[in-house]
Amino acid sequence: MLSYLHAFHAGNFADVHKHAALTLAVRMMQAKSSAIACFDTHAGSASYDLAGERALKTGEAAAGIQKVWPLRAELHSDGWQAVLAGLAAGEGNDGQLASYPGSPRWFLRYLREQDTLTAFELHPAEGETLGQWAAGHSRVKVFQEDGLKGLLRHLPPRQPRLLVLTDPSYEIKSDYEEVANTLVRAWQKCRHGVYLIWYPILAGFPHKRLKDAVSEGPVRKVLCSEVALNRAPQRGMSGSGVLVVNPPWGFDTRLAEMMDAVSGDRCLGLSSNSSWLVPE
Ligand code: SAM
Repeated sequence: MLSYLHAFHAGNFADVHKHAALTLAVRMMQAKSSAIACFDTHAGSASYDLAGERALKTGEAAAGIQKVWPLRAELHSDGWQAVLAGLAAGEGNDGQLASYPGSPRWFLRYLREQDTLTAFELHPAEGETLGQWAAGHSRVKVFQEDGLKGLLRHLPPRQPRLLVLTDPSYEIKSDYEEVANTLVRAWQKCRHGVYLIWYPILAGFPHKRLKDAVSEGPVRKVLCSEVALNRAPQRGMSGSGVLVVNPPWGFDTRLAEMMDAVSGDRCLGLSSNSSWLVPE
């Protein structure tokens, strides 16, 4: 039984990190015109109310994207401009963001005529909301099923290029190993694909199991970007990580610059680092 609801966490510092990486990957891949098959294995519900009870209860968006938004005039890079353009429609009358896009909407914003998005969501209510949203978009397909198994069933794609976001809630302890195993199987079916895997940094560092499994496996060219809060809370996430398999050339530097631009204490208050978990 899944109990995680992303509405409590949408727009937090980890979403900023993950969606900055996702937007940058999509935009850099689209420098070439050939079609991209996009997959979102753990899609959530596509849109989140930042003025709603759930977001206000945790205050995570207030310490996340709501800190970035007022500083937008200082964020000049192409990468940030793409993210800010994706947020603008969510601005409320008070100048704060009233809504925040989930990953399927980040994908959709930049989907071209030749690209497709396949999204999976297992939670019944979230899957239902996602399905209703997707009904208006002909290039988006939604499946209410396990996203890891679903991804493997669809690979290799018929399009020449592949971009996968895997963003589980890690409610089940074995998810870390499951994600690593799925990456290997997916990579064996489509070696040139770009795979983004998000993970939380929690007490006891359970994400090390994911990183160890990936670094000991056959997949090559894996970038690891991590951010850590300067003032970690006593409970919950102290940081966020993204593994990127086959990142576009120059992606590492551009993502690092994006995260540095929002790292100061008047913004997200974090430190970031990026290194190759597995070289080429
Ligand atoms: N990717 C979303 C975004 O960036 O806006 C947030 C996703 S949230 C962190 C994780 C989602 O995965 C939850 O909505 C949860 O219900 C869903 N989920 C959990 N296990 C799943 C599985 N095996 N297959 C597909 N979805 C799953």
